[in-house]
Amino acid sequence: MPDSAPEPRLRLAVVPVTPLEQNCAVIFDEVTHRGAVTDPGGDVATIRRAIGDLGVTVERILLTHGHFDHAGGAADLKVLLEREYGRPVPIEGPHRDDSFLLERIPESGARWGVPGLKAVASDRWLDDGDRVEVGDIAFEVIHCPGHSPGSVVFFQREARFAIVGDVLFAGSIGRTDLPRGNHADLIASITDKLLPLGDDVGFLPGHGPTSTFGAERASNPFLVED
Ligand SMILES: [Zn+2]
Ligand SMILES: [Zn+2]
Repeated sequence: MPDSAPEPRLRLAVVPVTPLEQNCAVIFDEVTHRGAVTDPGGDVATIRRAIGDLGVTVERILLTHGHFDHAGGAADLKVLLEREYGRPVPIEGPHRDDSFLLERIPESGARWGVPGLKAVASDRWLDDGDRVEVGDIAFEVIHCPGHSPGSVVFFQREARFAIVGDVLFAGSIGRTDLPRGNHADLIASITDKLLPLGDDVGFLPGHGPTSTFGAERASNPFLVED
């Protein structure tokens, strides 16, 4: 479980989940230990153990998009935490255009050999310019369609850090051959919305290692022009 410290008060612990090694993360304010879980795709017991080990109180569940490996454990984690805390733990995100994917989670999970995942609905659909709170730390929401129509990115401006789901990876970009994927939309999302945030912005992708927008601008084969 690699830990990183993007900013003095912001802490992040990655918990790889599902056979697709999806980067679920527990992000929290180190002063208050209040935080959120991003993309709980499955392996809910493992996520629950990480939350306990970190001593974090989870106030919300954030979803970057509706694919099963990112959202397939959200329903179970919500129920588990609400029972434990005795208060609501809302699921926030993705954009409404991914609702069809959240509804299909059981079927798509089974097709990839991960049975038993549950469909889930968002308590709050997100759009460009919305904000989500992680403890007292605000993340800006950026709608980045292309990998899926409702993909969103969570950006913490002061910490220079983003959680990007499957929009962008170290050395690659999200696949666009899945339902309602669109390559031109994805490239536009990355080049018009993400890269302008700054070369110094570090990001956690949905799979694989972290990187920075600057490193991807310079060397990502899908973004470098001939
Ligand atoms: Zn995906
Ligand atoms: Zn994924």
